[in-house]
Amino acid sequence: MKTWRARHLIIGSGVAGLTAALTLAEAGEEVLVLTKDRLHVATSAYAQGGIAAVWDEADSPTDHARDTLVAGAGLCDPRAVDLLVREGPDAVRTMIAWGACFDREGDRLLLTREGGHRHWRILHAHGDATGRELERALCERVRTEARIRVIEGFLAADLLTTPTRVAGVWGWQSGEAEPVQVVAERTLLASGGLAALFRDTTNPAVTTGDGIVMAWAAGATVADLEFVQFHPTGLVIPGEPRYLLTEALRGEGALLVTRAGERFMPRYHPLAELAPRDIVARAELLEMQRTGDPFVLLDARHLGAEFLRRRFPGLEELLARFSLSLARDLIPVAPAAHYTIGGVLTDLDGRATRPGLYAAGEVACTGVHGANRLASNSLLECLVFGRRAARAMREDAVEPIDSELELASPPLSWEGEAVATDLDLTELLARHLGVFRTGPGLATAVAQLAPALRQIPRPATDLTPARVTARSRRAAAALVARFAEARRESRGAHFREDFPAPDPAWQFRQGLTGDALERLPGDVA
Ligand SMILES: Cc1cc2nc3c(=O)[nH]c(=O)nc-3n(C[C@H](O)[C@H](O)[C@H](O)COP(=O)(O)OP(=O)(O)OC[C@H]3O[C@@H](n4cnc5c(N)ncnc54)[C@H](O)[C@@H]3O)c2cc1C
Repeated sequence: MKTWRARHLIIGSGVAGLTAALTLAEAGEEVLVLTKDRLHVATSAYAQGGIAAVWDEADSPTDHARDTLVAGAGLCDPRAVDLLVREGPDAVRTMIAWGACFDREGDRLLLTREGGHRHWRILHAHGDATGRELERALCERVRTEARIRVIEGFLAADLLTTPTRVAGVWGWQSGEAEPVQVVAERTLLASGGLAALFRDTTNPAVTTGDGIVMAWAAGATVADLEFVQFHPTGLVIPGEPRYLLTEALRGEGALLVTRAGERFMPRYHPLAELAPRDIVARAELLEMQRTGDPFVLLDARHLGAEFLRRRFPGLEELLARFSLSLARDLIPVAPAAHYTIGGVLTDLDGRATRPGLYAAGEVACTGVHGANRLASNSLLECLVFGRRAARAMREDAVEPIDSELELASPPLSWEGEAVATDLDLTELLARHLGVFRTGPGLATAVAQLAPALRQIPRPATDLTPARVTARSRRAAAALVARFAEARRESRGAHFREDFPAPDPAWQFRQGLTGDALERLPGDVA
C-alpha cells in the first residue's frame, strides 16, 4: 500500500476544516486536506440563514449564551458556550479579513433574527446564501495558500492507530483501486454530520457520519448522538430532495398554515412559528396526521414581492424551478433531518479522547448545542472551534508514532455484519429514529442494527469504497439508535412518545466508548 506522510492532516473541506487549515497555514504549518468530493462540496455551502454573533450594541455575549443554553434544554457545556459567544465576533472578523462579504447597508452589517434569539444577531450573505459565501471565500484562500495541499475525491475509510494513539488515516483516491495510508502526527476530523442517512434530509449526500464511525471504531468516545435536529421547513416536491426553506423566513414573519388556511402554531407554543425547531416539527407532523395531508404550508406572501426577492433571492430562484414563488404561493413544507448535535467528544480545544485525534464542526461534540442547537450557531461553532482545534494541533506535544513497522504493512480494517440494505436503512431510520420515537420502535432499531457495530477484522486491501461506505452508514445509524434507546425521557431534539416529558434524573450527557455507554462527567446547564 502506498504511504504518504503529513504533519497536520485534515479530513473534510467544509467551514470547520478549511478554517483549521488556514489557521495552521498562517502560523507557518504545512497541512494536508483530504476531501471526499470537490473542495467546495460540503454542507457548509448549503447554509442559508446566516451566522449568529454578538454584533449589535444592544446585544451581549451573556444574552447570546442565555439563548444558547435555553435552546440546549439543560445539556449544554457552559464553558463551551461561553467560548462560542465570546470568541464568535472575532472569528467572524477573521472571516471578513479572509474575504467573506456579508450583507451590509453602507458601513453597517445587516442583522436578522431567527427562532430562539432574543436579539438581532444573525449576519447573512447574498440574502440567503451565507454558507456558499463563507465556503467561496475559504476555498479561494486555501487554493492560493502554498502551505495547504488539497486532495479532492479522497474517501477516508478508517483511522490508523497504534496502541497509544491515532496516527492518520487510510482510504482511496478516486479512480485508484489501491488504497493509500496517510501517516500523520495529528489528524483533525472535520467531516460533518450524519443527517444525509435519512430519506427526508436537507443535507447533501456527503454527510453520512463517516468521521463519527471512524472515531468510534478507533476507540475515541462519541457523545449525544440521540440528538438529531429535524428542520420544520423542508420543501415538499414529489421526487425532489427536501430543499431547506430557511428559518429566517419565519424570523421575518412567514406563517405556517394548514391546507384549510388555519394558522396552527399559536395552539402549540407562545412563540408560535418561532418556537424551537423540535416543537414546530412535531406540531407540523400532528397537523399532517390530523388533516391527512403530506405537508403543511408556509405563507410568506404578506412580506411583499420586492422584499422577498431582495432578502431571499436564492430561494425564489429555487422555487421558480417548480413554478412556485414565495410572493405568490403557499409553499408545501414538512420536517427533514437537518443537523447532528452529537458526534466525536472533544475538549474545549478540539481534542478527542485518543491522542493524535481532533474534531471540529458538525462531526464534533463540544457540548455547545446541548440537546438542541440554536439556529445559526453551527457555522459559528465551525469558525470558533475550527480555530481552537488548529491551535491545539500546533501547540500539543505529540508522542512520536512508535509503530512505524506496524504501519508499514497494510492496516487492518473492519466490516460490520450485514444488516439492512441501504433502502431498508432509510426506511428503518424514518420509522424508528425520526421526530417521534417510541420504546418498542427504538428497541427494534437497536436489535436490527446491532450487528453493524460488530467489528469483523479484514485486511484493508480486501475492502472497496462501496463496502466501506455501506458499513459506515449502517454503523452510524446503529450508534444513533443505541443512544436514543437508552435515553428514557424527551428533551430537546429527542422526543419519545413513551416518555414525553423531560426527566430531571436524565439531566446528563451520554458517551459511548467501544461498547460502554456511560454518563459523561462534567457540568451541564
Ligand atoms: C440546508 C442547510 C442549511 C443550513 N443553514 C445554516 C445556517 O444558516 N446557519 C448555520 O449556522 N448552520 C446552518 N446549517 C448547518 C451548517 O451548514 C453545518 O453544520 C456546517 O456547515 C457544518 O460544517 P462542517 O465544516 O463541520 O462540515 P461540512 O460542511 O458538512 O463538511 C464536511 C466535509 O467532510 C467531507 N467528508 C465527509 N466524509 C468524508 C470522508 N469519509 N472522507 C473524506 N472527506 C469526507 C465532505 O466531503 C465535506 O467536505 C445548515 C445546514 C443545511 C444542510
